[in-house]
Amino acid sequence: MSNLYFPICGLFTIILIVILFFSRKRVESKETKLYGYMILISFFNVSIVLTELLIGYFYYNNVTNVLLEIFNKIDLINYILWMSLLFLYVYHITYGNKDVYNKFKKSILVLDIIFILAEFIMPIEIINYEGSMGVAGMATEFVLLISSLYLILIIIVLILNYKRIFTKKYLPLIVLALLTGIAAAMRTLNPTLIIIPTILVFIDLIMYNTIENPDLKMIEELNIAREQAEKANKAKTEFLSNMSHEIRTPLNAIVSFSNSLMKENLNEKYKEDLRCIVDASSNLIELVNGILDISKIEANKIEIVNKEYSLTDMINELVALSKARLGEKPLDFRTKIDPSMPKYLYGDVSRIKQICVNLLTNSIKYTNEGFIEFKVDTVKYGDIVRLIITVEDSGIGIKKEDIDKLFQKFTRLDIEKNISIEGSGLGLAITKKLVDLMGGKIICSSEYGKGSKFTVAIDQKAVDNPKTTKEEELPSLKLEFPGKRILVIDDNTLNLKVALRVLEPYKIEVDTAKSGDEGIEKIIMNNNYDLVLMDDMMPNKTGIETLKELKENIEDYNTPTIALTANAINGMREKYLSNGFNDYLSKPIEEAELKRVLNRFLK
Ligand code: ADP
Repeated sequence: MSNLYFPICGLFTIILIVILFFSRKRVESKETKLYGYMILISFFNVSIVLTELLIGYFYYNNVTNVLLEIFNKIDLINYILWMSLLFLYVYHITYGNKDVYNKFKKSILVLDIIFILAEFIMPIEIINYEGSMGVAGMATEFVLLISSLYLILIIIVLILNYKRIFTKKYLPLIVLALLTGIAAAMRTLNPTLIIIPTILVFIDLIMYNTIENPDLKMIEELNIAREQAEKANKAKTEFLSNMSHEIRTPLNAIVSFSNSLMKENLNEKYKEDLRCIVDASSNLIELVNGILDISKIEANKIEIVNKEYSLTDMINELVALSKARLGEKPLDFRTKIDPSMPKYLYGDVSRIKQICVNLLTNSIKYTNEGFIEFKVDTVKYGDIVRLIITVEDSGIGIKKEDIDKLFQKFTRLDIEKNISIEGSGLGLAITKKLVDLMGGKIICSSEYGKGSKFTVAIDQKAVDNPKTTKEEELPSLKLEFPGKRILVIDDNTLNLKVALRVLEPYKIEVDTAKSGDEGIEKIIMNNNYDLVLMDDMMPNKTGIETLKELKENIEDYNTPTIALTANAINGMREKYLSNGFNDYLSKPIEEAELKRVLNRFLK
């Protein structure tokens, strides 16, 4: 009777495992499927063993041995199936190669069929050992042999992959192999010890708790999916950033050459065409910048760079820019600036400017008549100044049901009405994310057909004793620097031509180099340049690497070196300054920016 204890215990356990496993949502994978078969076989196995033990116990003397022999053979066949499944499971977890696994699966199926047939033909002997039933004979030894062979195969697979010994799935597999070995040894030593089915159940239990727990597997699967999504997102950002570089290089050439052509004495018709080219290219640049910004924000790569800034200067710049953008539109552009506002604040001025530019540009785009009002209010509490910026217009307005969609990326509303207005649907998505990044709030109220009002509130630090002096005034008159020498380093010939062209009016002597190495050579041979403009994204040696080498090779290298790059993502300036550059110019080079840099370093 004591023979029954282990199988009864095994039966309770396997029933619990089967219910838990099959009642839960599972990951659809090969190994989980194999595990499902394994626990079903274990359940069947323990049930058969219990049945035969009961038959043996109650009717041993009355029932023909044939029935017991059949039950025992089925039981033995179960071991072969279970072991082959465990081998496939271990193999699949370790190698995971689909094609090889499928070949293995077919061969093992054929082998198992042969083993099962052989098992049925071989003789089996039912033994009664001091009142306990046991089995012996060729059929039993054959099963032990086959199970041992599978165990050896499992051990070989594990040894071949010993390097993964400390990985999550590997340790349980080693424990499983050990337990299987111990069970087989115990069975060989004592044929009446009916322990194998229960040990197999315990192995199932260990597997359930370590590698086959449906919840754990789900989490694992989710983690893999998350990693894949992150990778894909990273690849997308990299692709966008590279693409922007590729697009900006030719755009740089188009805008720069068109601008310099416009200064020539051309007839009005050609000038108008050139203006269209410049406008179209500028739109394209804005689009590329928008895509870059949104992808950077999504990859959490945008940093808020706080510094002291002049609020008055920022507002003046925004007003000037909006007036320029108004162009021919018959709109009344009003400003309402708080006269008591502090002159200086501490915050990320370029981001606040970007937010205002987006709102003001939208107002101009979506308003055909009436007014646009740009209002700046400040509320001071303690050392914090709440900046409240409102942009109101009497434009086309936004439908109530569309207000919620306003800040979603690539969303353009009221397409029938806006079809002729250019836009990507990115501006407000970027604006909202920037406001959020700075801990601010943005709201929109609008009446369809009448106009819209966007209000942004952002807290900035007050600056009592400003260190900032007013930005260097740019002389609007002709800037010329005869006798000064500039070296431009860029791997792209078209870019070098553009640089020569845009620098032409300043009467500067310009030298060029097509790589970092050529630049270093020219500077070492002839170090009397007054300024170096250096592209960053160059093959072999980037601008950052070139500057580092220059500083290592030339003692007190102090020629002002400006990073010149098409990778014009906000925040780049800080990156280049921290890498030793004196300033930063984004391509296409804007005339005002170029003047600022020339004035700063060549004067
Ligand atoms: P874009 O202007 O490039 O389409 P935005 O993200 O800046 O993208 O704006 C999203 C949509 O919100 C616009 O397509 C437009 O339909 C609507 N919108 C934004 N600002 C205004 C405004 N001031 N007046 C009316 N509609 C606006």
